[in-house]
Amino acid sequence: MMRQYELVERVQRYKPDVNEALLNKAYVYAMQKHGHQKRASGDPYFSHPLEVAAILTDMHLDEATIAVALLHDTIEDTTATRAEIDELFGPDMGKLVEGLTKLKKLDLVSKKAEQAENLRKLLLAISEDVRVLLVKLADRLHNMRTLDHMRDDKRLRIAEETMEIYAPLAGRMGMQGMREELEEIAFRYINPEAYRTVTARLAEISERNKGVLAEIEHALSALFEKHTIKAGVKSRQKKPWSVFRKMEAKALSFEQLSDIFGFRVVVDTVEDCYRALGLIHTTWSMVPGRFKDYISTPKQNDYRSIHTTIVGPSRQRVELQIRTREMNKIAEYGVAAHSIYKDTGGKANGATHTISKETNAYAWLRRTIEQLAEGDNPEDFLENTKLELFQDQVFCFTPKGMLIALPRGATPIDFAYAVHTDVGDTCVGAKVNGRVMPLMTELKNGDEVEIIRSKAQVPPAAWESIVVTGKARAAIRRATKNAIRKQYSGLGMRILERAFERGGKTFSKENLKPVLHRLARKDIEDVLAAVGRGELASADVLKAVFPDYKDERVTVTPPKQREEGWSRIRNAAGMLFQIPGRAARRDKTQPRDDAAVPIRGVRGDLPVRFAPEGAVPGDRIVGIIQPGSGITIYPIQSPSLTAFDDQPERWIDVRWDIDENNRERFPARISVTAINAPGSLADIAQVVASNDANIHTLSMVRTAPDFTEMLIDLEVWDLKHLNRLLSQLKENSSVSDARRVNG
Ligand code: MN
Repeated sequence: MMRQYELVERVQRYKPDVNEALLNKAYVYAMQKHGHQKRASGDPYFSHPLEVAAILTDMHLDEATIAVALLHDTIEDTTATRAEIDELFGPDMGKLVEGLTKLKKLDLVSKKAEQAENLRKLLLAISEDVRVLLVKLADRLHNMRTLDHMRDDKRLRIAEETMEIYAPLAGRMGMQGMREELEEIAFRYINPEAYRTVTARLAEISERNKGVLAEIEHALSALFEKHTIKAGVKSRQKKPWSVFRKMEAKALSFEQLSDIFGFRVVVDTVEDCYRALGLIHTTWSMVPGRFKDYISTPKQNDYRSIHTTIVGPSRQRVELQIRTREMNKIAEYGVAAHSIYKDTGGKANGATHTISKETNAYAWLRRTIEQLAEGDNPEDFLENTKLELFQDQVFCFTPKGMLIALPRGATPIDFAYAVHTDVGDTCVGAKVNGRVMPLMTELKNGDEVEIIRSKAQVPPAAWESIVVTGKARAAIRRATKNAIRKQYSGLGMRILERAFERGGKTFSKENLKPVLHRLARKDIEDVLAAVGRGELASADVLKAVFPDYKDERVTVTPPKQREEGWSRIRNAAGMLFQIPGRAARRDKTQPRDDAAVPIRGVRGDLPVRFAPEGAVPGDRIVGIIQPGSGITIYPIQSPSLTAFDDQPERWIDVRWDIDENNRERFPARISVTAINAPGSLADIAQVVASNDANIHTLSMVRTAPDFTEMLIDLEVWDLKHLNRLLSQLKENSSVSDARRVNG
């Protein structure tokens, strides 16, 4: 077993200013906690965390990571607690150890859904601190190295899990050395026969080619020396698992594999990479189609190297990788090479270096997650591994670097609600990777999402059909329900104010309190909303509050005697209409704008809609309460209004309230009679368009041999705009008549 000082020395070799006290403290604490515990092999248990720590020293990791490795099984397997570790080593280390404890509980579950959930948790843990993954992988590697001592069935499950999840994950994180060893051992347990065959054949071939390999190595070294390039040349042999996988994937026999051997040339600088490449290509002939420059275009996991294949000195194919020392380190250690933390100095426990957005490791992790679900080359066997479970999820980041996991198809709205319900409710826009994008954009792995918020926002009901998460859907439903209720109670309030005023009384919400019971409503808001929805008549509320009030409805003129009360009004198109007396009278007694409900179009805060014939600013208008759905606005010349004549409680005074800075178009219906000639429809459309109006719908009403009558629903700014359009239509040679339609 490695001694305490040996461990310190190992770290000191690459980090001279190592925090020795921290390492010593963790060593002693873990050793004491594990005490006389034994592993399945009979070794003292403490040898395991110690070996895990040793693996991490090979990757040149900082003392905090090494200390976490020493402590990684203490909470799970000993009397140690999170609180104790927090106290002794600081909360940052405590968090890491606890994170590993949680991950340990997730190992070896069999259900697919559980595995997916584990992966998600693993990734979330990694995103908080990549060192969790490094320790976890080192832990798994040591367990694999000592797998012999496990029970047969358990052994196989661990090996399969390693092959399916941990090895590909290590590869994805760019840790090729780790990946190869995990695969190698797992292969041995999963398919012992194939493993033995492949290994034996490889050994045989290696023995047979010993001389050739030495010859090539010598030739290459001599070439570089002659041209004064400092280069390390090393032969390497493909690993049994990658040979086996290739044979299976491409249905090749052993003999057909051309690239069992390769050479790696490691130089000092990028310039030397290309110089070495030039020398190789001018000395031997290259095999076409095998050249790849991953230096100018690095792989997604940051792998950089030049690959080429030549016909070597003894006429055999030789695969070559050319790279710098730095590139070699990254190819070997991946994310670990990026996660060497700068010492912030002064901090006693050395555990304060957490992964931040600024570190390379963060950028690395982000890129990796972006690529997790998408293989970057055809040989990528990701789809055959458990990592495919990631494919129904996307992982996105907040601007502060928090990882948000969402189901595939999720939008920025889902993201906002996943962060917090308030964030979702006030979301008005989103920046995805710094660019403003539509809220229905489908998020991709690795997207950074910034939510633009406004306190005035109410989530539109239509969002419910855009979002994919249940949380967002439920919150939107709740918010729109509240908003609609608010609209109705706002409308109800205005209706009551007006009704009270007409009755010579003053309305206040306080008035309602004593009569809630009589009105059978549970609170004031409930009364207001009921009035707004038309379920409760304003007169009934007025009578409840002021019992001496005389109901206006009783005094309504009976229809027969009303004739003289009607007005004849000529509308904009010159048509004569009979107008119900009430509306006409009310119109004459204006201005009573203070008592009228202001109307600002359909996007305002009232539950408002327009009659089918439309109404535009400039029209005199009246509102009719539609029980359960707010108010419908009619121009007062509309003949449809007669239908409500004996329901005075449904009439409500309204007035236009146009926001000049935020103008809206309003609906109007016109009838156009066109002369049947080629192009006349196009003419009409042209006149409408050139007048800055929109055609909403167009329908043919009557066609005769000489003319066609059509109804057009338009959107215009106001009455002036509509009249200008009508007169221009009349002037057009294709048009014989154009007029506004009422009702
Ligand atoms: Mn362990």
